[in-house]
Amino acid sequence: MSHIERRGLMLVLSSPSGAGKTTLARHLLEQDGGIDMSVSVTTRPPRPGEVDGRDYFFVGKPEFHRMEADGELLESATVFGHSYGTPAAPVEHALAAGRDILFDIDWQGTQQLMERRSDDLVKVFVLPPSAEVLGRRLQTRASDSAEVIAGRMAKASGEISHYPEYEYVIVNEDLDTSHKAIADILHAERLKRVRQTGLAGFVREMQAELD
Ligand code: 5GP
Repeated sequence: MSHIERRGLMLVLSSPSGAGKTTLARHLLEQDGGIDMSVSVTTRPPRPGEVDGRDYFFVGKPEFHRMEADGELLESATVFGHSYGTPAAPVEHALAAGRDILFDIDWQGTQQLMERRSDDLVKVFVLPPSAEVLGRRLQTRASDSAEVIAGRMAKASGEISHYPEYEYVIVNEDLDTSHKAIADILHAERLKRVRQTGLAGFVREMQAELD
């Protein structure tokens, strides 16, 4: 089969905490060799089990502000009182090399990426199947304190209100179905003509043989 050069895309997954987004992201990364995770920087302290450089780059406030001031972040936002941001350089390299990047960022970050990189962006919002399920999932996440959980529940309604800003919405009732939905979205988006940058040359060569 012919290999046609393509430009990578930016797949954004957003959701209220507890909708299952992290599980979906992990599964996608395991199953698909063409997509890498964008590792954010944050001033939030690590949770048990989180690894610096894999889950986040954990930095202090001065370093975060330096990165912001030096234009090293593609977007940044304050979520639950902590700063989060996306380092720009790895994203640019991956896109140019025809690799896709997965972003686990909130609606504020997504809006900023829309302003800067709308052509490369594919936006997916993950909804929980019900308020009850969302509450249960947050409570069984043992690493967060009761206070943090209550804060996340209270914020969920506001976060959910941003779903109309996303082009795809997945109600995460069943993980297998949601995994497949994300894989299908990615597959279709990769086939978009504008992303297949090698098409013009490919077709020209074919026509040269045909003419
Ligand atoms: P957590 O602290 O639970 O890992 O993440 C809290 C929220 O911050 C999640 O909604 C997550 O999507 C968002 N988030 C994580 N990294 C970034 C980032 O780099 N930029 C933005 N805008 N949001 C982020």
